[in-house]
Amino acid sequence: MAVSVYNFIVFLQVFFPGGLSMQRTLYVIAILASIYPLFRLHRNQHREPRQPPATGWYRSILLLLSRAFHPERNDPELWLDEGPGDEYAQAMCDDLGQLYEFLGIPGSSAGHNNFFPEPRTILVTSRLTCIFCPASDGIYSLRRRRKVSTVRLLDSNFRWVKADLFIAYCRACDAEYYPDRITYRLPNQPRRERLEYGAKVLRVSKHGVWMDRRIAFTQENSILRFHSGWSNFAEWLSDTVGAKPRVTPRQSQRLYFEHFARRLISAHGLAPTFSLPSNSSSQVLADTVREQIGLDGGVVAGAMEHGCMDCTHLKRYKSDLVATGASLGDRIDGIADDLMENQVPNVPATLGEEMPPPPMQTGIPFEPEQQEFPPQNGCRGYVRLAVMDGKTIKHKICSVDLCHKPLENYKNGRFCEDHLDLRDICGIVPCGRAVHSSGAFTCDNAAHKDWHVKYLNRFSRMSFPGVQRVIRRQLGGGPSLRAELPDLNGVAGAQVSHTFRAGTTYCLQTIQWSCGCPIAWGKCYRSESSSQVLAFLNRTWEHHPNSKPSFIAYDDACNLLRHIVTQDANSPWIRTTKFIVDAWHYIGHRATDVLCRLWCNPAPTNETAEQLNAWLNGFEAQLRQMSATNYDFCVHVLMFLYKEMVEERILKKQRTYRTNSGARWRR
Ligand SMILES: [Zn+2]
Ligand SMILES: [Zn+2]
Ligand SMILES: [Zn+2]
Ligand SMILES: [Zn+2]
Ligand SMILES: [Zn+2]
Repeated sequence: MAVSVYNFIVFLQVFFPGGLSMQRTLYVIAILASIYPLFRLHRNQHREPRQPPATGWYRSILLLLSRAFHPERNDPELWLDEGPGDEYAQAMCDDLGQLYEFLGIPGSSAGHNNFFPEPRTILVTSRLTCIFCPASDGIYSLRRRRKVSTVRLLDSNFRWVKADLFIAYCRACDAEYYPDRITYRLPNQPRRERLEYGAKVLRVSKHGVWMDRRIAFTQENSILRFHSGWSNFAEWLSDTVGAKPRVTPRQSQRLYFEHFARRLISAHGLAPTFSLPSNSSSQVLADTVREQIGLDGGVVAGAMEHGCMDCTHLKRYKSDLVATGASLGDRIDGIADDLMENQVPNVPATLGEEMPPPPMQTGIPFEPEQQEFPPQNGCRGYVRLAVMDGKTIKHKICSVDLCHKPLENYKNGRFCEDHLDLRDICGIVPCGRAVHSSGAFTCDNAAHKDWHVKYLNRFSRMSFPGVQRVIRRQLGGGPSLRAELPDLNGVAGAQVSHTFRAGTTYCLQTIQWSCGCPIAWGKCYRSESSSQVLAFLNRTWEHHPNSKPSFIAYDDACNLLRHIVTQDANSPWIRTTKFIVDAWHYIGHRATDVLCRLWCNPAPTNETAEQLNAWLNGFEAQLRQMSATNYDFCVHVLMFLYKEMVEERILKKQRTYRTNSGARWRR
């Protein structure tokens, strides 16, 4: 039997001092209900003969009730005033059995959890006034839209609950306020919307399905720790929730885009201006975000301002080094501490006897400038080392050579929108004749038809282990898999140019500070050419010319440097940055090349770059299936999450620079 109001008042009057705050009173009642399972054990033990009146259970109950009346003893910051004294806990304990019966604890059903029934959830904006209209005269208080709808909410406890969704609006400008967004009207334009960045709930389906933001953070962690994709997160979430309906991959994807659109846009400082057409699909949302923070690549938010003990060092000048007694030979540049301490020579030790340097090419500067002393203005400057690397993490693009456009259809398409007509042209490239029937891949030329059949059948007679065996053989330098394709009119099978399948980008280019913190990413199409890599570097530092790294380690630094110098002998890169290759290349490859000897230094081997590679590789299979938009959005997310993870680790290891005031060190 549930307790009546009358009985409840009696209970309050008997067991609580009249001056006790309501909050403290409710707190004690909540604890009283929660310790019922201990009371059961006490009562049960007490029924046995020769048991003390105060069992171990009983003593714990008394202690917990004392703490319930005196929470300020454990948490003086939260509970400011004084409790009523221990006699109240004792009095409650003395009558515990009757008390539970009187209050109807544990309630009619089995558990004690339902002693405090849960209220129905209200979803409504946290704002009071319109953000577009001046609030000064108070006319622009938000009003209630008449229509209140019932929606399903996956709450922070991973349970489906019903919730009432209220929409507020401004009478002056007709802006509508939802818990996660604001839609508004501009003259003669379709409605647009702004995102609420701190939204506690997100809409994941137009059909009234919402999720608590905590679910989104769970998804974020599952990406970080398990490389989880949209579908398997949906499966995992459904299994965890247990109750129907199951979460669909589409809802999981929507949650991802809604959550990370907010995370990325606010990290990039674009929140005040970002907007999109109202009621957009996830694709439009992803596209709009991508246009804002970077198409085909971009700078990771906050990466230019990053500095820590593992990537940033006070610049050392020749005068400093001489002062510490270092014997350095003729020339030394501003070199990071690590490099100095390793005593890396400017010329590899294995070089042996002096070799006469090859003749200088025209247009190449003689020597890197070196600074003997710190500048007079007292600003010594900092030295940062960045590591650049290409990874074979690709997405599909148009099959036409030199076309970089996304596919018109990512399910089974081969061409971009511009080249769709080529579906009707023979797939053997120089042929150019019409396909023999609609949907066919070749013209009616028997050799072309036959070659396409052979192309399709390359793997068909092989079991999966058979394919693996061939690939292994290929990697081991055995006969190439492609070689099994027949010649066509004297052209070797592997050389036959065709459009039978979509093309792919060539690689994902990344650059990180040497502590691991990612700086930026980009893509190379068709090959990892020096011109594309230079364009990537230029784009990355376009708006941050003063944050260029003093050193960039890159395994093809020699060719990149050659390209930079050939393009422009006075390139700013030559003045700001030293390009260093991995030590192996330096010793084995180009030791006699004058450009390499002057400008390339062996880089310290960098485990941090390997860690990013290993982590990113876990996403390769997912990213390969994605459209260009989704690929870009997801790589933005991955680089952003990785930066947060690295910075958290740096903070834990106390490798941050702090000034005397205790503020984070900034460049
Ligand atoms: Zn307004
Ligand atoms: Zn760092
Ligand atoms: Zn194309
Ligand atoms: Zn043909
Ligand atoms: Zn070199």
